[in-house]
Amino acid sequence: MIIQRVVLNSRPGKNGVPVAENFRLEQSTIADTIQAGQVRVRTLYLSVDPYMRCRMNEDTGSDYLLPWQLSEVADGGGIGVVEESKHNNLAKGDFVTSFNWPWQTVAILDGSLLQKLVPQLVNGRLSYFLGAAGITGLTALLGIKEKGHVTAGANQTMVVSGAAGACGSLAGQIGRLEGCSRVVGIAGTDEKCSILVQEMGFDAAINYKKGNVAEQLCELCPGGVDVYFDNVGGDISDTVISQMNQNSHIILCGQISQYNKDVPYPPPLPPDIEKIQKERNITRERFLVLNYMDKQEASILQLCQWIQEGKLKVRETVVEGLANIGAAFQSMMNGGNIGKQIVSVSK
Ligand code: NAP
Repeated sequence: MIIQRVVLNSRPGKNGVPVAENFRLEQSTIADTIQAGQVRVRTLYLSVDPYMRCRMNEDTGSDYLLPWQLSEVADGGGIGVVEESKHNNLAKGDFVTSFNWPWQTVAILDGSLLQKLVPQLVNGRLSYFLGAAGITGLTALLGIKEKGHVTAGANQTMVVSGAAGACGSLAGQIGRLEGCSRVVGIAGTDEKCSILVQEMGFDAAINYKKGNVAEQLCELCPGGVDVYFDNVGGDISDTVISQMNQNSHIILCGQISQYNKDVPYPPPLPPDIEKIQKERNITRERFLVLNYMDKQEASILQLCQWIQEGKLKVRETVVEGLANIGAAFQSMMNGGNIGKQIVSVSK
């Protein structure tokens, strides 16, 4: 059977900025028949995520991330529909997902590595299983629960960097749902800031590309910062950490501002900021959502319930066509639109 697929065309280099041309669309073939235990799936949605930048390097810097190989098909979070099954628990028409979905229109996959999806949980919005009701939502929820020390009624202020991104836009809302009394976001455009406040219930948002972030933070967080959901690292995080309270907590979710740089993960803090962190006893433990998969099922149900109740507002940008996945990745790495960036591969 003839299929379309997207392979890694070139590496940007450890310190390079990735571009759409690092990927190449090509025609390929898969077997006409499937073996026992396998399913043939048609791809519906693919996710583009910041961690993929590390997979573009020969050495990803993490033992849990394998590098993509040149001229080999790329992969990541994906959703599809079963077209043919020789697996006992999967039938034609089932919707399934995997973290390692190949970037191709049709694929033959091992059925035991797929998770079956229940579309009713997200009111039929299947792509949400790659975002708010998937790994992104889990990251926001479990990051807060495991590392945030949020206590309802404790009058805590949470700051979220990368607040308009997939994780950040959920993290601020979940921080509020879990009991923070004040939530302030940091994002890269006025439009993103206004959506965070008007639609997603943040108390305030700072455009870090305009004005003085330290001064605005000081004004907007008069009692200091108790919980910092850090998606970006770098200067923004140094500024936030400087305004954190004694015994406060950083949720070290990601450091997207450092991903095009050849630095270790997590990047060390500058000495003056590290001094503040130590003196104020601010926790900054590494958080990896994949370490908490025993909590996946219950957490997804919680996220779906919040979505259905309208307590968690979800934004996503869906780019049409496998041919555009490189451009979608490039755009996401440059800030993208608010919320989750998804590629739809239905044709
Ligand atoms: P995303 O949707 O691409 O959002 C990232 C946000 O960061 C964007 O909204 C972007 O917009 C902002 N940003 C990009 N470059 C920036 C820079 N240089 N300085 C400041 N802000 C910048 O990504 P995501 O899926 O939400 O992921 C967010 C972070 O979580 C990433 O670091 C990712 O690696 C991490 N993550 C961690 C885990 C885990 O298990 N720990 C799991 C999933 C994701 P603006 O610049 O316009 O604001």
